[in-house]
Amino acid sequence: MKKIFVTGGAGYVGSHCVKALSQAGYEPVVFDNFSTGHRDFVRWGTAIVGDVRNAEALARAIEKTQPVAVMHFAALSLVGQSVEQPDLYKDVNCGGTRNLLDAMAAQNVKALVFSSTAAIYGEPNADLISEDTEKKPGNPYGETKLACEEMIRASEFDRNIRSVCLRYFNAAGADPDEEIGEHHLPETHLIPIILDAALGRRENIQIFGNDYPTADGTAVRDYVHVSDLANAHVAALDHLLKGGDTLALNLGSGQGASVLDVIDAARRLTSSEIQTTDSPRRPGDPPRLVANPEAAREKLSWQTMRSDIDTIVADAWAWHRKRFTPEITSEE
Ligand code: UDP
Repeated sequence: MKKIFVTGGAGYVGSHCVKALSQAGYEPVVFDNFSTGHRDFVRWGTAIVGDVRNAEALARAIEKTQPVAVMHFAALSLVGQSVEQPDLYKDVNCGGTRNLLDAMAAQNVKALVFSSTAAIYGEPNADLISEDTEKKPGNPYGETKLACEEMIRASEFDRNIRSVCLRYFNAAGADPDEEIGEHHLPETHLIPIILDAALGRRENIQIFGNDYPTADGTAVRDYVHVSDLANAHVAALDHLLKGGDTLALNLGSGQGASVLDVIDAARRLTSSEIQTTDSPRRPGDPPRLVANPEAAREKLSWQTMRSDIDTIVADAWAWHRKRFTPEITSEE
């Protein structure tokens, strides 16, 4: 079986990709320091405990695994934290990617799928964001991811590493089989916070900004189901292993949903009231971020299957309820 080395495979998007890899007939080998990932999310393939900042440990793990390709998720991804600790973000995100490219080159591994983000675009004016929309990250998180993309693209010239950088919009939802889902500590993401309120784990949710220039005044995002993201990663890997060229692609549904749209869906699907309070805008939050996903459709024949907001919230709710209902809670 073809081995795929997956850094950050115990995290939210990483673990769903690991499951999809396994279902597609690959053998995933997870490399994770479990700083934000969960041990109980590693259910497919094997795991090596390690940190991407440790160049030697990473090189040893790749040498031992002898993968045909790498998927790189291991990174820090909180905008607020990145503003407070920019050097930490450079260290983990850029330093980790540099170490990974060195380790791949040393073992002649020539294919890389990289977990990137719409945060590299900053606050674009465009209604739908295409891959060639101007990139002006508004925070150190987006800056480090853009720098990683540049490093990765450059490695094609000096090291022959072909890559697909996948720029996610708002990853959301959970595995439809309810095996894994979204669980961050601390939680800052809209949907799990809403579901916490539905379960009574918090009293209410704050709506960050009701005066945006959008139809209902709240910020609009492109929520894309994590299982659809996982399928895109497998398609990107297949593309590279067939000799396909280096790509950078947006992954989104192409549809925008406002904060109030998401709350409405959750109220309907959970039959819970979900109390809200109006709060100021969160610094750095753009009014609207919606993908033009045409290029991914064209290049990878990728289609979203579960990325309508009702399916996203329903899948997230099924898993969230299972994980956090008191009698069966298994928090780390
Ligand atoms: N949001 C909110 N209340 C919360 C968390 C998020 O109103 O408790 C809003 C946030 O301002 C943004 C949207 O929900 O407009 C999605 O935020 P999230 O943190 O999930 O993802 P981001 O867009 O920051 O990657």
